[in-house]
Amino acid sequence: MPGPGPAPRRLLVATRSRHKLRELGELLDLPPDVELLSPDDLGIEGEPEETGETFETNARIKARYYALRSGLPTLADDSGLEVEALDGGPGVRTRRFAGEDATDEQNNEKLLRELRGLPPDRRGCRYVCALALALPANREARGGLRIDVRRGTCRGRVADGPRGAGGFGYDPIFEPVGEAPGGRTLGQLSAAEKHAISHRSRAAARMRPLLREVGLGG
Ligand code: IMP
Repeated sequence: MPGPGPAPRRLLVATRSRHKLRELGELLDLPPDVELLSPDDLGIEGEPEETGETFETNARIKARYYALRSGLPTLADDSGLEVEALDGGPGVRTRRFAGEDATDEQNNEKLLRELRGLPPDRRGCRYVCALALALPANREARGGLRIDVRRGTCRGRVADGPRGAGGFGYDPIFEPVGEAPGGRTLGQLSAAEKHAISHRSRAAARMRPLLREVGLGG
């Protein structure tokens, strides 16, 4: 049965990072005629304050902000690391764990320092990714926006030191749960191996049916 009108074929991704834009494009497996755009492509300036206490809330804040400015379906990603020994921290503060402008190395060093001496069974952690899709045209929803969130996690443990140069962020000190203690970190896996188990690819797989439903899927 034909749909109610022409399907929207442009999707804004609420990130200024080319890396994230490309990676999400790959993970969502979009048809070739769906154009992925960044706020820069549309000349949208500024960014929202990520004031939420959960990944879901921050993903919603970002999706809402850019969808309202662009009028386009907008996908936002918020992600981070939860460490059992830190009661789920650094959580939404993952990117700025060691300070506002901390580098990946500084964040990794701080985490290793805080867990120093703990045995493997007390170094459990997980990556979490929340993907929010905001759809501007839905008049039934409050504020004219419908926002849906899908989530994915990847369980592992914090290694006792950095290994591998692949990936980014905490990957050199993240041992996925399938590895024995002291085994390979995500920084030592290929991109394809990481995609097969990552929090972001799991969230993306759960987002795909929704994208299809709104005419943006393959
Ligand atoms: P965001 O850009 O505010 O979502 O920050 C997420 C932060 O979590 C990143 O800066 C990384 O430090 C960390 N992070 C999220 N996903 C990954 C991943 O796949 N590998 C390594 N670090 C990640």
